[in-house]
Amino acid sequence: MVRGRFAPTPSGPLHMGSLVAALASYLDARRRGGLWLVRIEDVDTTRCKIEFEKAILLELERHGLFWDGEVVRQSKRSEFYVDALLTLAHQNFLYSCSCTRLSLQHRGCEFNALGELVYPGFCRPKSVAGGRGRALSSGFAERFLVEMGDFEFLDEIAGFQFGSVAKDVGDFVVRRADGCFSYHLAVVVDDFLQGINRVVRGADILPLTGRHMVLQRALGFAHPQYAHIPLVFGEDGRKLSKSDSARALSETSAPENLKQALAHLGVPIRLSDHASIDDILRFAQMHYTLS
Ligand code: GLU
Repeated sequence: MVRGRFAPTPSGPLHMGSLVAALASYLDARRRGGLWLVRIEDVDTTRCKIEFEKAILLELERHGLFWDGEVVRQSKRSEFYVDALLTLAHQNFLYSCSCTRLSLQHRGCEFNALGELVYPGFCRPKSVAGGRGRALSSGFAERFLVEMGDFEFLDEIAGFQFGSVAKDVGDFVVRRADGCFSYHLAVVVDDFLQGINRVVRGADILPLTGRHMVLQRALGFAHPQYAHIPLVFGEDGRKLSKSDSARALSETSAPENLKQALAHLGVPIRLSDHASIDDILRFAQMHYTLS
């Protein structure tokens, strides 16, 4: 059975870009008779607020996007992330690292196309053996040792993707020095434990998906099918962010927002001006395909 999900970070209210992602994953799952889950990605508690979480869930309901089961919150799932880190440590895929962003810049590390520092492995142990039974460090970051960093996959929208995590980013942080688990670790663990087999999300995550694939490989998790939908840009040509158009979304009627989101997804809209949310979603389920 298809299991899709929408996984917003509650660092701002729902905006048109995230409504498009929510709608695309909802329609993809529902069209296939599958389940659609909602997961709140509040793993980085420093960026997230409960009022944004409430606002996002309210907006989903206001737009008729009702999810299956309980909403899952990453902030309550530390035990699963620790388990995954210990599994990585056991397989010698984990090491602690005392480098800071500043020290890496001072040592002349390069930035990748996403503006991230590429880690050349300063703290990488000479011999990777010894992870078995190791406890997680405190006060230091934990990095994933990227041994086989090459990846390739067929994205249902963006097409064939390939790259090298080793070259593009190097050994990456899976738990920060302040104890916060990385998004990459959390998303991989959660998608696996929630049995997600289709991930439909914004194209801003496409360049990060290679990291998810190498982590899935190391943890022995199956890869879900990925489909990354084009981003929504504002009138000024910039990608819409949580702050930009959030107000606009709650000020416009839900049917209008849904029609706009569908137009962005390329669904031909032949609906009367008075179509209800149910009419629109029913019509969309009949006419929506990822391609
Ligand atoms: N939490 C991410 C966001 O709000 C989405 C991550 C994902 O769908 O994997 O942009």
